[in-house]
Amino acid sequence: MTHYALLIDGQLHPGKQDDEVLDPATEQVVGYAARASQAQVDAAVNAAHNAFTGWAANPQARRTALALAASVLRENSQSLAELISREQGRPLRFTLGEVAGAAATFDYYAHFEAPGAEILRDDEQRRASIERRPLGVVAAITPWNVPIILLVLKLAPALHAGNTVVAKPSEHTPLSTLLLGQLLKDVFPAGVLNIVAGDGEVGEQLSSHPLVRHITFTGSVATGKRLYAGAASDLKRLTLELGGNDAALVLEDADIPAIAETLFWGAFWNSGQVCFAIKRLYVHESLFQPLIDALVARAEKTRLGHGLDAQTELGPLTNRQQLERVKALVADARKHGAVIHSGGDQPEGPGYFFAPTIVSGIGAGVALVDEEQFGPVLPVIPFSDVEDAIRQANASPYGLGASVWTRDIARGEAIARRLDAGLAWVNQHLEVQPGAPKGGYKWSGLGYEGGLRGYEAFSDLQVLNVARPVV
Ligand code: ADP
Repeated sequence: MTHYALLIDGQLHPGKQDDEVLDPATEQVVGYAARASQAQVDAAVNAAHNAFTGWAANPQARRTALALAASVLRENSQSLAELISREQGRPLRFTLGEVAGAAATFDYYAHFEAPGAEILRDDEQRRASIERRPLGVVAAITPWNVPIILLVLKLAPALHAGNTVVAKPSEHTPLSTLLLGQLLKDVFPAGVLNIVAGDGEVGEQLSSHPLVRHITFTGSVATGKRLYAGAASDLKRLTLELGGNDAALVLEDADIPAIAETLFWGAFWNSGQVCFAIKRLYVHESLFQPLIDALVARAEKTRLGHGLDAQTELGPLTNRQQLERVKALVADARKHGAVIHSGGDQPEGPGYFFAPTIVSGIGAGVALVDEEQFGPVLPVIPFSDVEDAIRQANASPYGLGASVWTRDIARGEAIARRLDAGLAWVNQHLEVQPGAPKGGYKWSGLGYEGGLRGYEAFSDLQVLNVARPVV
């Protein structure tokens, strides 16, 4: 069984103990993750701190290394994608897509042209400009649902901007990130990229380390709020990508046969374990039954299975806690009178599987509608007045994504602009434009990832004001 090591100061290290990581489809051990000791977290941050000045001084070396990282990922995409499938559960064609996306992100920032200095004044007496400087050591803390792309969305801009990084993956899916560290060991100078694994305690130690200047986090709202509070004492910079409870609004003129497949995947991709998946589906009452019928037909033919089985469309939930949460939400919805049109149960056999579940008969006030389910269960809620649907969609503490489905594109856009969401779509959901800033309103986050805005988060401004001797 393979043991996966930490990456600290350019060297691979065993941890203070080995944590077994289970395959969620079989509940068998996939491999062992080294857990970092306190001294190792400290050593990783110190290594990043020591590497910072040299790394920050050489933008060309940064570009070259980022381009090399992209090609190393491409060369190793099969082994990395297989490991993601085995520890996270998603079908291989999607994990291959994740690795390809991560490579494309490294490439994007390898070729990214940051805006140059802004000249405010330049004359005989004075030259004043605004420039950008990197921050120092960045702590990158990531979740278990899409482990590699979510990490690389942080790494690539942080490193491009001249920072050094200590990354910590989720304890549920650490192996692919530790493998990434092994693959990138010689791509970056020692100390520029460090990877420590462990649970929330390791995350807490890393994020509160006095030498860390920026925390970039993707995960739950509860942990995000805790990090925000913790960062205050040291005024650390922070980027938070948190949960969502995305609404999709299907208007009365929507073409159900044309959109059913896309809607289904908008809700069920990765078994619903996506921060910006469709989590509440509001449909005009005239289309309620046809939409339920179309989604149930699609759900019932969905092939559940192991991520490495080529026939599989949906894998299991990634861990037992998440399965138990989804089961509890469905049980609670049943108590509130929900109608379960498909799924609703854990199938026989090993693994954390849950069949795609279409639910109706519940609305606001029931946890499955009000909270983020993060699983393959979709509540469908009829409306008669679109104004009421907009109000319900916005009546949420979350504000990550939202979509409108209609044949009338202009009306769809107008409604999308009224939805409280950092990502708004018409006739699609989940699509992310390369270079687009990804961020959420309200409890869904703070700051942006991706593109220019994602890069800017990893630097501070410096106003440089130079007095010139009069000649
Ligand atoms: P989930 O409950 O879905 O696993 P979390 O927000 O707990 O989501 O986890 C996301 C990441 O945050 C993981 O890498 C986890 O280990 C880390 N984490 C959990 N608690 C803390 C904490 N108190 N400080 C820093 N990181 C933490």
